[in-house]
Amino acid sequence: MIRFNQVNKTYPGGFLALKNVSFQIAPGEMAFLTGHSGAGKSTLLKLISLMEKPSSGTIHINNQNLDNVGYRQVPYMRRHIGMIFQNHNLLMDRTVFDNVALPLIIEGYSQKEIRRRVEAALEKIQLSDKQKCFPYMLSGGEQQRVGIARAIVNKPPILLADEPTGNLDPKLSLDIIKLFEEFNAAGVSVLIATHDLGLIARMRYRTLTLKSGNMITDGIVDGLHSQT
Ligand code: ADP
Ligand code: ADP
Repeated sequence: MIRFNQVNKTYPGGFLALKNVSFQIAPGEMAFLTGHSGAGKSTLLKLISLMEKPSSGTIHINNQNLDNVGYRQVPYMRRHIGMIFQNHNLLMDRTVFDNVALPLIIEGYSQKEIRRRVEAALEKIQLSDKQKCFPYMLSGGEQQRVGIARAIVNKPPILLADEPTGNLDPKLSLDIIKLFEEFNAAGVSVLIATHDLGLIARMRYRTLTLKSGNMITDGIVDGLHSQT
């Protein structure tokens, strides 16, 4: 489903952000991606979501080699990937409903279908009663859940999250991860970039660790020990 083979990423200016990175995430798998600030986590997610291109190596998403994806196909490929950001990127002048509806409007769904899907997504994140609110009326945790609803409303098979719990306390962070677990249980592949090692240690999921652009470990993190 996600496959990196000896991927290098050099940014303009010559900075080598990813070095010879290889790994696979199977369909329906859930994993964490960790490493210090600057280790290359966001870069790796941007390569998956076609926001950046690798400098060398190959990336397959859903068995499609991204080298063969022309720019016209990029929007189509991105529909298969839900992205969640730390600062959730909600439109502050639109209601919760309209924020969540955005991906469906872009895809040209009917009004009726949009209403049905947005209501189902809001129910899943337990914010049905806030659909007419504007984001500033919501707490940080609620805003993050709206960002998640927007990412999953068109049912992508892959969910990527970049520091989704960065601004949240441990209890709310766990709630967010539980939501990801629900999508994962429904068959969605989930990759969560975070430097919250406490959260990772509690969850016992596969964890990919980047250090200065190198993938240094891949396995279950158990307290301070890691094994592959
Ligand atoms: P992380 O998400 O782990 O903090 P990033 O992938 O954001 O790491 O960044 C990895 C390295 O690549 C950092 O040193 C960063 O400064 C550099 N970098 C990221 N984006 C760019 C860019 N667009 N141009 C140049 N350097 C970049
Ligand atoms: P259906 O088409 O089966 O009636 P809906 O479109 O009503 O499903 O959505 C059902 C729920 O599943 C919604 O809350 C939606 O947010 C959630 N969901 C979104 N993406 C996915 C996914 N990839 N896998 C499973 N459930 C998802």
